[in-house]
Amino acid sequence: MAVCDRCGKRAVWRDTESGEALCGEHFSAWYEHLVAETVCRYGMIPAGSRVAVGLSGGKDSTVLLSVLVKLYPDTEFVAVTVDEGIADYRDETIRAAETLVKRLGVEHRILSFADVCGKTLDELLAAAPERACSVCGTLRRRALNLAAREAEADRIATGHCMDDEAQSVLMNYLRGDITRVAENYKTNAGDLFIPRIKPLCRCTERATVAYGMVNHLLTSLPECPYTRYALRAGVRSELGLLEYTYPGTMLAIVEGQEELLAKLGPAVGEVRRMGVCERCGEPTENRLCAACTLLAKLEERG
Ligand code: SF4
Repeated sequence: MAVCDRCGKRAVWRDTESGEALCGEHFSAWYEHLVAETVCRYGMIPAGSRVAVGLSGGKDSTVLLSVLVKLYPDTEFVAVTVDEGIADYRDETIRAAETLVKRLGVEHRILSFADVCGKTLDELLAAAPERACSVCGTLRRRALNLAAREAEADRIATGHCMDDEAQSVLMNYLRGDITRVAENYKTNAGDLFIPRIKPLCRCTERATVAYGMVNHLLTSLPECPYTRYALRAGVRSELGLLEYTYPGTMLAIVEGQEELLAKLGPAVGEVRRMGVCERCGEPTENRLCAACTLLAKLEERG
């Protein structure tokens, strides 16, 4: 039986890079310290913030809300759940989210795609299920922004972990989307666009799941039926294999991306002139925002 390198109790975690073995208590303290260090390093939660936390009910967002509430007892948190309208999937995760917020005593708001655009994701995708994740992601960003604004939050925290960040960098290259690779801008959108923070961006998914299990936060939930259309699913499994064989690969990708943005510096760091969307009034550089452009295309397809 492996034992904790710090106290000699039964170990539940071994770090793939350092090889250190930790018991549940020391692993939890290590994970929480990593989150606190990330929040501090990027100045994510200034004193007096009111933070909207995107809570799907899945593992990452469940751990995120639980850790933030524990680490920052003086900060106001409001959990925001977006109900995309995905049959046989979302209802169960919403129930898990409701149980968690009740236990933590956190205010909870739920906004559905039907509230935002009059249709569920299932209805929008009837003729194009292969577009699920791009439609879902675009509308979810809008719904989160709307709900956070209604909740008078000044930050939106999402549960993206290091795996998600590394996957996103690779996916931008795989799609040839160099604009997004180099995206590092400020906007003049003022209060319309609420800044995003990702407190778990230095934690791997493996560590996040382990934290959830050690602290009895997770329940077994169904998988989104559209996952099979997601480019991310393929990238996740290939990257997972690389990380297993060459520990530190994901961190190298994420830090490489940060270095690239720092080197590109002012060329892409200038303030973008944002206006408002003609159709919905949300911030955008163009006549229509990304969500309205997408909805118009789906309407055209019938
Ligand atoms: Fe949305 Fe795709 Fe995630 Fe399903 S797998 S919840 S469609 S982003």
